[in-house]
Amino acid sequence: MKTVADVLSSATARLIAGGIDSPRLDAEILLAHVLNWRRLMLYVDAEKILPAEKILRFNELIARRLTRIPVAYLVGTKEFFGLNFAVNESVLIPRPETEILVEGVGEFLRGLGREVTFADLGTGSGAIAVSMLKFVPSARAAMVDISAQALQVAKFNAAKFGVEGRAEFFCGDMFAPLDGKIFDAIVSNPPYIPAADISTLQAEVRLEPRLALDGGADGLSFYRRIISDAPKFLSAGGLLAMEVGFNQAAAVKKILARDSRFSDIQTLRDLSGIERVVAAARR
Ligand code: GLN
Repeated sequence: MKTVADVLSSATARLIAGGIDSPRLDAEILLAHVLNWRRLMLYVDAEKILPAEKILRFNELIARRLTRIPVAYLVGTKEFFGLNFAVNESVLIPRPETEILVEGVGEFLRGLGREVTFADLGTGSGAIAVSMLKFVPSARAAMVDISAQALQVAKFNAAKFGVEGRAEFFCGDMFAPLDGKIFDAIVSNPPYIPAADISTLQAEVRLEPRLALDGGADGLSFYRRIISDAPKFLSAGGLLAMEVGFNQAAAVKKILARDSRFSDIQTLRDLSGIERVVAAARR
């Protein structure tokens, strides 16, 4: 007869032995998922006896977690901007630091005080675009991804949060499917890891789509492409805003500064104080 507390402590010990970073938290999330409980209930009902089949399913998930599969893939969701996004192995798992991109560009679009449009390049799960559509009710989005499987996840999430009527989906490489369209803002969290660094990343991150991580030799290749093509797709005064990796803001600002079609180059810092978003206005 095993209680909630028993199975959590033995699973936590297995995860610690396996070198998993946040063992207790991961065990709690996985058990709450199996039981279909909120995590708090694991404490409220810590002494409750668990049925053997639940314990079995939980232990299977712990075994898979020990192979470094991220918790978000195991439970099929990740919270971002207060919304529980569906995720699978075809999409990058949304990161909390990306929320400042949504807030920053969302405020800009709201400030325009009219119907607005934006494009999200490499939308993945759709976390950025769907959150922005929730935050800015007068907005319409073009959500682009080169991966058809990722776009399925983005569509699912747009429908899940009731914004699919304001979203269009395009399968293609960056701006390729958007010919002739003009937007008030263009956002992207492009792949930005230098190719040679990918093998040094945490095992969990290496299980995320390489397509969503590999930023070419110096990690900056998508910034060069986006900056060079974006002016054609932005209205005058329109905003280009991109997430950047640790230490990349200066290089991306420099690419923008050399391009006379942009002005008002700005950065936003994440909660750790890292410059995380680089933005500029179309002249
Ligand atoms: N944020 C991811 C990481 O640091 C990278 C995502 C990306 O390349 N856009 O692992």
